Amino acid sequence: VQLRITNTLTRQKEPFAPIVPGEVSLYVCGVTVYDFSHVGHARVYVFFDVVQRTLCKLGFKVRYVRNFTDVDDKIIKRANENGEESRALSERFIAAFHEDMAALGCESPDVEPKVTTHMAAIVAMVEQIVARGHAYEVPGETAESRDVYFSIDTFPQYGELSRRQQDDNEAGASDRVAPDPRKRNPADFALWKSAKPGEPWWDSPWGKGRPGWHIECSAMSCKHLGSRFDIHGGGKDLVFPHHENEIAQSKAATGDTFAQRWMHLAFLTIDQEKMSKSLGNFFTIRDVLARFHAQVLRYFLLSAHYLHPLNFSDKALEEANRRVLAVYEKLAAADAWLVGKPATVNGKTAPVVESARSEFWDALCDDFNTPRALAALSEPIAALGQALDKPKAAGGDVAIAEVLEFMRETGKVLGVFDRDPAAVVAEIVEGERQRRFPDGSDERRRIDSLVAERQAARVAKDWPRADVLRDELTNVGVELRDSREGTSWRPLIGGE
Ligand SMILES: [Zn+2]
Repeated sequence: VQLRITNTLTRQKEPFAPIVPGEVSLYVCGVTVYDFSHVGHARVYVFFDVVQRTLCKLGFKVRYVRNFTDVDDKIIKRANENGEESRALSERFIAAFHEDMAALGCESPDVEPKVTTHMAAIVAMVEQIVARGHAYEVPGETAESRDVYFSIDTFPQYGELSRRQQDDNEAGASDRVAPDPRKRNPADFALWKSAKPGEPWWDSPWGKGRPGWHIECSAMSCKHLGSRFDIHGGGKDLVFPHHENEIAQSKAATGDTFAQRWMHLAFLTIDQEKMSKSLGNFFTIRDVLARFHAQVLRYFLLSAHYLHPLNFSDKALEEANRRVLAVYEKLAAADAWLVGKPATVNGKTAPVVESARSEFWDALCDDFNTPRALAALSEPIAALGQALDKPKAAGGDVAIAEVLEFMRETGKVLGVFDRDPAAVVAEIVEGERQRRFPDGSDERRRIDSLVAERQAARVAKDWPRADVLRDELTNVGVELRDSREGTSWRPLIGGE
């Protein structure tokens, strides 16, 4: 199947052909490390994790670069508030980000460059832009230092990505603040900023200072992927000004074509508003993982096409929770059924798996349509349920084994349903138990005593009483599971 990708530059879904046949270079803008990342970030990085895995499965050799912005106004401000070095602050949140990504099952990119370790490349690129006449110097914070601005009037294609007009840029810039009189065009942006007293600084041809935000991605992508590469991605909020400016800087510095295509994710919203730190309507990845299993969050994040907004709500996560639990329960039951049985896949793929497999790959090749790919799992899962209901029917073992094989294959691409099923079921159930009936709570004590009372009624063969107690437990959201070893209970999470 031909992979097709929507390119922000052309607003078209285009057949994908990399610059070097068989190889893909991918750059995704990373986080600014001054705080914990929120689930809007998780959406971007889980999605590009699936992009990277899909490309690998399609046979491409992928080089994936994702940066850390570890020099920034927000970092400096937060570090000052905390009374710590900005380096210490950013290193702490880099570690936290790595923990979050690992929890979400994201594979590490090949390179994770940081601004602080790429100062030479950044300074060299700014020098190149100045030398080629696309930037100018103005007096800086001190007598010895200067700021460097990119001159958008020297770059006629400026606006090609965001499709903004020059007038928009000038109006937009002057609406917010009075235009900086040092700038030739109000929409010119800083490549290098001289250091104010107390700020971190690096030596440069323009004195002590630090890079503007945009130049880092131009310099780091060029260093690790070259002056032209296949895919540049990020959240939709980066189209302007960040990515527009990256294009201007990179092309101005190298004269090459820079990113061949751009992929931008729509927002994760809350009540139809973008989730963001600045709006204050955000949940950190940790907030959510304290309440829901990482597999549930990952499933939820992939449940909408990346070009469409995804609305974050408890209801949507509860639904994902039910679905993920139901699938893992079937997988766990299938594992248990197959224990001790000989390898049963006989190569004669069941039609339901065969058509699901082709639908799955069609979906991913059609602009990484993850909701369609997830939907393609439904029929094999349903078939698995049927085979488990009648496992002794002819061909039952084969059907069960084939669906498990298919789920392993798709799990490697989506990073969903690829964990040990019995362990995930236990984790989700225990998580719900603690969420709704925490250890030591009154609710918990009440349930424990009702369960014990019912157990006593059963021992006494008082079945009417046992039934009354079961109903009472059902009413408070508890499901009982009787077995030869006794009765266990779990919170009612609901079936399909
Ligand atoms: Zn960037």
